[in-house]
Amino acid sequence: MKNIAILGSTGSIGRQTLEVIDQHRDKFSVIALSARSNAELLVEQAKLFKPKYVAITEGDFSYVKKSLQPLGIEVLSGSDSLTAIVSAQEIDIVLTAIVGFSGLLPTLEAIKHGKNIALANKETLVVAGELVTTLAKEKNVKILPVDSEHSAIFQCLMGEKHNWIEKIYLTASGGPFRGMTRKELKNIKKEQALRHPNWSMGNKITIDSATLMNKGLEAIEARWLFDVKPEQIDIIVHPQSIIHSLVQFIDGSIKAQMGLPDMRLPIQVALSFPQRIASPFERFDFLQYPTLTFEKPDTNVFRCLPIALGALRNGGNLPCIMNAANEIAVAAFLNNEIGFLQIAEIVEEAMNKIPFTSHPTLEQYLDCDRTTRDYTKTLITKKS
Ligand code: NDP
Ligand code: MG
Repeated sequence: MKNIAILGSTGSIGRQTLEVIDQHRDKFSVIALSARSNAELLVEQAKLFKPKYVAITEGDFSYVKKSLQPLGIEVLSGSDSLTAIVSAQEIDIVLTAIVGFSGLLPTLEAIKHGKNIALANKETLVVAGELVTTLAKEKNVKILPVDSEHSAIFQCLMGEKHNWIEKIYLTASGGPFRGMTRKELKNIKKEQALRHPNWSMGNKITIDSATLMNKGLEAIEARWLFDVKPEQIDIIVHPQSIIHSLVQFIDGSIKAQMGLPDMRLPIQVALSFPQRIASPFERFDFLQYPTLTFEKPDTNVFRCLPIALGALRNGGNLPCIMNAANEIAVAAFLNNEIGFLQIAEIVEEAMNKIPFTSHPTLEQYLDCDRTTRDYTKTLITKKS
């Protein structure tokens, strides 16, 4: 029996994680759940899965407490509640499915307490990959990828040696605007950007997928998860999202991991590792997909991708600056304050403005994140 804590259980990944656990109640048990503000769903989930701890960081604490305390569940509130619950002795795996920079501190805390991490919250590795992976090594903690591309690479690497890797190919669907020109994208509305062709996800990652920032974040995530050099990572657009990523080895052989786009599979792979367990998920039918296609990403139109690859190459605090500016810019786009193409412009301006640091400490990352957010907000106010 593995004991799981889910940070962000009310979100897209969190809900699908509970679906996986529900199918394997004999193998997984839920120790802790958390949400930011969706108190009703959190209470519903807690009644079904009976965790020991529940945390609500910003929502209606008294409602959650009144509903769950009589069931013997300890209810916590506030931003520190996540760092508090991840240290619980019973936890084996912390699945991090909250959004953005806010995942960093709870993830570090979980690692400090020796908990294995099932990592969906890619921004944690984007911001402070070196810090996080170094600590994980020190504490002998596994970081198991939930992101579908990284789960694919992780599966392709099973039974292989690290120095046999020549190249990692991350596949990208291309998002809802693949093939469009900058002129066509100028007046795109958020409703159009939120319509992803293959995946149903939370709003922030859906916009990142439309700008291709998501693929840039994933390249940085891959660099740290698999300890490869930036030049060993390549991006290929594969609109059908059936091949979830590939690894090319030093003899030229390529392994791919394939399947229907369904996040429950990579979630299950992370939770069940090192075992594989049966699943009832729909199977891939080759005859339904007679053609799988590949193309180059259009980096002239989707500027966020080359910006992120630049941050990957230059390292230091640049990915942290990029991530903070992107979080603020995406929120502003979702709030109809800026246009779609301005997301990349704003991120680039922030990266040019905030001073570079080559090996930031945790305090410097926290400071850099705060400074960038403030700067980006001011920039957006000026522009809108
Ligand atoms: P959602 O927005 O659907 O869910 C986010 C969850 O985290 C919710 O439970 C939300 O609570 C909670 N939350 C959000 N912000 C905070 C915060 N600042 N502090 C505490 N809790 C917070 O996101 P997704 O599930 O789509 O994505 C989660 C992470 O997984 C992201 O990093 C994303 O990039 C990554 N990921 C997602 C994939 C997907 O298919 N969705 C695929 C690959 C990676 P509430 O509901 O109360 O707001
Ligand atoms: Mg992904």
